[in-house]
Amino acid sequence: MTSTVDSFADLGLSESLLKTLSEIGYETPSPIQAQCIPILLDGHDMIGMAQTGTGKTAAFALPLMESIDIKVAKPQALILTPTRELAIQVAEALQSYAKNLPGFHVLPIYGGQSYTIQLKQLARGAHVIVGTPGRVMDHLERKTLNLDNLKTLVLDEADEMLRMGFIDDVEWILEHTPEQHQTALFSATMPEQIRRVAQKYLVEPKEIKIKAATATVAAIRQVYWQVSGMHKLDALTRILEVEDDFDAAIIFVRTKTATVELADKLNARGYAAAALNGDLNQQMRERVIEQLKSGALDIVIATDVAARGIDVPRVSHVVNYDIPYDTEAYVHRIGRTGRAGRNGNAILFVAPREIRMLRTIERATRQPISPLTLPSRADITNKRVADFKGKVAEVLNAEGLDFFANIVSQIAEEQNVSAEEVAAALAMMAQEAKPLQIAGEDPAPPRPFREQRNDDRRPAFGDREPRKPRFEDRGERPRFEDRGDRPRFEDRGERSERPRFEDRPPRTERPPRPAPAGDMVRYRIDVGREHGVEVRDIVGAIANEAGIESRFIGRIGLYEESSTVELPAGMPAEAANALKRTRIRGMPINLRQDEGRPAGSFGGERKFGGGERSFDGERKFKKKPFNEC
Ligand code: AMP
Repeated sequence: MTSTVDSFADLGLSESLLKTLSEIGYETPSPIQAQCIPILLDGHDMIGMAQTGTGKTAAFALPLMESIDIKVAKPQALILTPTRELAIQVAEALQSYAKNLPGFHVLPIYGGQSYTIQLKQLARGAHVIVGTPGRVMDHLERKTLNLDNLKTLVLDEADEMLRMGFIDDVEWILEHTPEQHQTALFSATMPEQIRRVAQKYLVEPKEIKIKAATATVAAIRQVYWQVSGMHKLDALTRILEVEDDFDAAIIFVRTKTATVELADKLNARGYAAAALNGDLNQQMRERVIEQLKSGALDIVIATDVAARGIDVPRVSHVVNYDIPYDTEAYVHRIGRTGRAGRNGNAILFVAPREIRMLRTIERATRQPISPLTLPSRADITNKRVADFKGKVAEVLNAEGLDFFANIVSQIAEEQNVSAEEVAAALAMMAQEAKPLQIAGEDPAPPRPFREQRNDDRRPAFGDREPRKPRFEDRGERPRFEDRGDRPRFEDRGERSERPRFEDRPPRTERPPRPAPAGDMVRYRIDVGREHGVEVRDIVGAIANEAGIESRFIGRIGLYEESSTVELPAGMPAEAANALKRTRIRGMPINLRQDEGRPAGSFGGERKFGGGERSFDGERKFKKKPFNEC
């Protein structure tokens, strides 16, 4: 890695945060964290050129949290993000870093969410606001958000905010924040307009750029799997099973917690696997490596630091289960295979949002990484059958078969069946522990990355606020109350219902849906972006399976491994059962009420069954919707 700092403790973070990082399993700072944290702790403004996957969120979140005075329940930091999805994600990251900071409160505010809820939450007081530009601007105009106590302002994914047409809003916010605060700007690319904003609003910023050091990699077969439609663990075991020259593997993950969890899961699936992380002392570490060398272990799940310098010639595969932070880490990781003149294989798991990192790695290593098609059920069966036949052939050549042949004849005679039928029964018994055919379905093929990137970056409906006109003369921008072109705040519904401006090209996104009326309950489902799932998949499945009209499906939060969806309260048992059995992109969704942060529950319960009318007089559940599709 480019990081020369091995420990968060060297960066000047407080004991409380260090404890949290250790608890959540972060072992070492990523390169961007190693560089940004000390600069931000020193109070400098900064520009960070970093993309998703580099650990940039913690790079700005950790220093920002050090400056928060918990006793002051007022916004002391504001983080602007291009999408509501990212706002929620960043807010959740901050909340996890605040594990040992009692009373810390972070609030995501974004377009598409009810103002009533936001106003209540703002009035309650939050230390950090994470918001999309349009909605933050509205609250500033309305004076429902007061930034007098602001210490830090972060612009996250600034180039995306520009691309989505929010840069005017961002500038407006920058102009309406108190003079004295620290500003950090993060952007994967640095287009001219972003550079201009940085020059205008940042004070002597330090610039951090993670070098994509070019490096040549040995003759290693490099492939990637686009994470989609299947849990990473299932995909991993499918892949390992059909890889031809598999002997031993090192699997890289980000946190020490993940090393242990994955090792446990692989052990449960019959692999000889162990974790290798910074919590192991030198002796234990050496023991694990010896076991890998001797064949007592076939798989070691490691963090970057723990795997440094491993030289075990039988390692035929390196799996980047979690994508590395930078190309240097990638090159280091894959260098653990293909040693001593042997063949090496490097497999990289890439979630749709990490595509940029994949391309950066390809550029830096000057080698294309080819897509890997996930082995299908038929592939697995064929492989298992071939192995089974091989074993049978071996035994056929062994001594002492006569005794068993005699038993087969006896069974055939007693049961009045052919020897072939007896052999089939025995084959069935022999494979019981590891069936030749695997259960479940093949996932839908992933959407190509190009298409997916667009979809992925496009926020979920209700997510994205429409562009606003550019104000040529920003100084004379009318105050909200004076503007004739927009309804008064109180009268407005969601931002997406604002009047459009003639000079703008028509939007291609779907028309805005009405906000869900009535009591809503938030559910969690076990599919997320990691499985290639998009908002439309969730809406489609719920509408079809539970017969809930899509306009009554509330907010959808798309996360890495899971998602949340708000549905009208009082769901009939039939609909709930149908949803429990529902699959999205081949994955069981396991719908259950979300235990996390309550969102959008609007007071007391109102019950309405299938086909009954809800309190707002509209039918939310169709009469006979179940299992129609
Ligand atoms: P980001 O680039 O901020 O979206 O972070 C990508 C992922 O890396 C998130 O899942 C983080 O929780 C994780 N992460 C960030 N920093 C570290 C670290 N130092 N050690 C382990 N995981 C990390």
